[in-house]
Amino acid sequence: MKELTYFNGEFVEPGAKVISIDDRGYLFGDAVYEVVRVVNGRCFALSYHQDRLYRSMREMDIPVKMTPDDLMELHEILIEQSEIKDGYIYVQISRGVAPRRHAYDRSKLEPQMLMSIRTLDMEEVAKLGEGVKAISLPDERWGHVDIKTTNLIPNILAQTKAEKKFAYTAILFRDDICTEGATSNVFAVKDGILYTHPADHRILKGITRQMIITRIAPSLGITLIEKEFDSEFVKNADELFFTDTIGGVIPIIKLDKDAVSGGTPGVITLRLREGLEKLMEEGLA
Ligand code: PMP
Repeated sequence: MKELTYFNGEFVEPGAKVISIDDRGYLFGDAVYEVVRVVNGRCFALSYHQDRLYRSMREMDIPVKMTPDDLMELHEILIEQSEIKDGYIYVQISRGVAPRRHAYDRSKLEPQMLMSIRTLDMEEVAKLGEGVKAISLPDERWGHVDIKTTNLIPNILAQTKAEKKFAYTAILFRDDICTEGATSNVFAVKDGILYTHPADHRILKGITRQMIITRIAPSLGITLIEKEFDSEFVKNADELFFTDTIGGVIPIIKLDKDAVSGGTPGVITLRLREGLEKLMEEGLA
C-alpha cells in the first residue's frame, strides 16, 4: 500500500516541488477541488462528486480539459496502483499559471491538475460515531459557498478556533440562521422530523447530505424538510449531526456549553449513520 500523488499527467514523489509560484491556485486560491471516499477499493458516489466538480469549474469559468470518463479512469488507476482500500482521493484543478494579476485571460491559461490518494485511519472514523463536541461561530464566508473552491480562509479560521476549544468543528450561523459546519453540512432532528438548510448559494451541496436526503432518510421512512432554522431551533433540537465525505454522519453530543440529546448520539442520527455505512459497503457509482 502506497500513498500517491499525481500532477498534470504524471506521478510525482510526495512533497515534490512541481507547482509554479505563479500558479493562481497558489497565489489566489483560484482553484476548485473534490474529496472522494475510497471504500473497499472503490470510489463511493464518484459520479456525484464529478458532477459537482464540473459544476464548480463552469461556475468559476475554468475550462474543462478532461472528460468525466477519463477522470473516472484516473481515480481507478490511483486506487489500483496505490492498493489503498480505505482512504480518499483529493482532486484539485487550478485556473492555471500566469504572472500575478487579479484578472485572468482564459485563452492564455492551462488548468493545472493535482490528484492524491491517502489512507484513512478507520478507527478514528468509527470513533466519530460516538459523537463530537461543536461550537457556534458566525458564518463569515462569501456569497457563493455552493462552489467548492480552495479559497477557504473563513473555514480554516473557524476550524482552528473550534479545535483550540477542543471541539471537532464549528456550526456556522449567518444572521442567526444555521447554514452548515466549517467542513460539513448540519442537520437537526425535532419531533422525529429531519431539518437542514436548503441547497442554495449559502451552503455547499454536500454529497453526503444528498445521500441522506435522497436515499437514507426515505429508506428509513424519516420525513425531511429543507428549510432555514435559527440558533433557538438548534438549541431546542432533539438531535444534531454533521455530514461529510470522510466522517459520514457525525452525531453532535455537545454544542457550546450544552449537552445535545442528553450527551449521547441521537437514535435517528445513529440509524442514518448505519444506513449510510450500509450504502457505502454496497457501493454507489
Ligand atoms: N460543507 C463544507 C463547507 C464542506 O467543506 C464539506 C466537505 N468537507 C461539506 C459541506 C460536506 O460535503 P460532502 O458531503 O460532499 O463531503
